[in-house]
Amino acid sequence: MRTFTGDTLLVATHNAGKLEEIIHLLKPLGISVQSAKDHGLPEPEETGTTFVENARIKAHAAASATGLPALADDSGIQVDALDGAPGVYTADWAETPTGRDFHMAMRKTHEAIAATGLAAPHTARFCATLVLAWPDGHDEVFAGTVEGQVVWPMRGAEGHGYDPVFQPDGYDITFGEMDWEEKNRISHRADAFNKLVSALGRR
Ligand code: IMP
Repeated sequence: MRTFTGDTLLVATHNAGKLEEIIHLLKPLGISVQSAKDHGLPEPEETGTTFVENARIKAHAAASATGLPALADDSGIQVDALDGAPGVYTADWAETPTGRDFHMAMRKTHEAIAATGLAAPHTARFCATLVLAWPDGHDEVFAGTVEGQVVWPMRGAEGHGYDPVFQPDGYDITFGEMDWEEKNRISHRADAFNKLVSALGRR
């Protein structure tokens, strides 16, 4: 495991909701965080078929473009009734000709589940894979999950993406209804970042 000795990390995401969560989750490292947007980096095409492949594409593109260690997150929701879909294609289910529409994506997910005829609870998990890449091509991978179920109708206006339809195990509220700090304690991304922060030896 390579340790992180620098004082600046580039976060290779163009997603404002994720960036905000990641800055919060990186606080224990006490380092300065820059974003892909700060560097005007283009969004690379996510051509992988797994979370780790896509996270590697984003992290290595940013590290080689800037010469800084770069951290990328690839994430999504896996619904058991849909054999793990939308999974790595979670963001794609929200694509429209005029940008991403997550209300449409959540409705599509609900309709696909309803079409299976399977009874609730519709078990699901959010997954997050982090890749920390260095400009010399080395990388380290950390994965996290949170188990729960997809509920309908959507509930709550907090968070981002599919938060209003995901109810984590042990709660009767969705991520969309949950206090931001609480979500950041239990989420898939928090799970992956806890592993990253302890592996880097700064906590
Ligand atoms: P990507 O990792 O940028 O390819 O996109 C993953 C997609 O999964 C996001 O656009 C969100 O729609 C969804 N997603 C990932 N993490 C979360 C989360 O914490 N809450 C809600 N949706 C999420």
